[in-house]
Amino acid sequence: MTGHDTWFPEAPDGHEWVNPAKADCPHCPCHTVRVCEQKAWHRSIPRHEGCPCEAAAIAADTPPATRTVTIAVAGVTREVTAEAPTVGIGAGLLRTERVFRATGAHLTAEAIVAMVLSPATDRTPDELVAVDELGKRWTIRLTAFHGGDQVAITGWHDA
Ligand SMILES: [Zn+2]
Ligand SMILES: [Zn+2]
Repeated sequence: MTGHDTWFPEAPDGHEWVNPAKADCPHCPCHTVRVCEQKAWHRSIPRHEGCPCEAAAIAADTPPATRTVTIAVAGVTREVTAEAPTVGIGAGLLRTERVFRATGAHLTAEAIVAMVLSPATDRTPDELVAVDELGKRWTIRLTAFHGGDQVAITGWHDA
């Protein structure tokens, strides 16, 4: 081992580089397992554009921001982690983890759902205001969608 990951093309005569340490990455056609596990694509020679492993790593490096938001539901106040996407569907909203119990006319049992919070306004009733760690006010929504229909959040999942 030289400490450098290099990419070896197959030789034109059909000779293959056989080395157990150079096993192909199962997720892309262009690199060895070592290159992808160590995220060493920039050291790979020749450079491969469009590697799906590298693209996935770049996407994972820029996750949606998260907030810690204090929410009161059914008389119990908790802090939960919520995603705050900045682009795409849900941009400008908060989406909590699935920590709420909910019931719906179409359900035979309680569902476990996430809550989507929208920015609070001056007209948001105090009991429906949640606050994140930055002091931003959000509107608690006690309805959610589950199983293709609306459900009513009734409390905390493990309360
Ligand atoms: Zn790979
Ligand atoms: Zn690759």
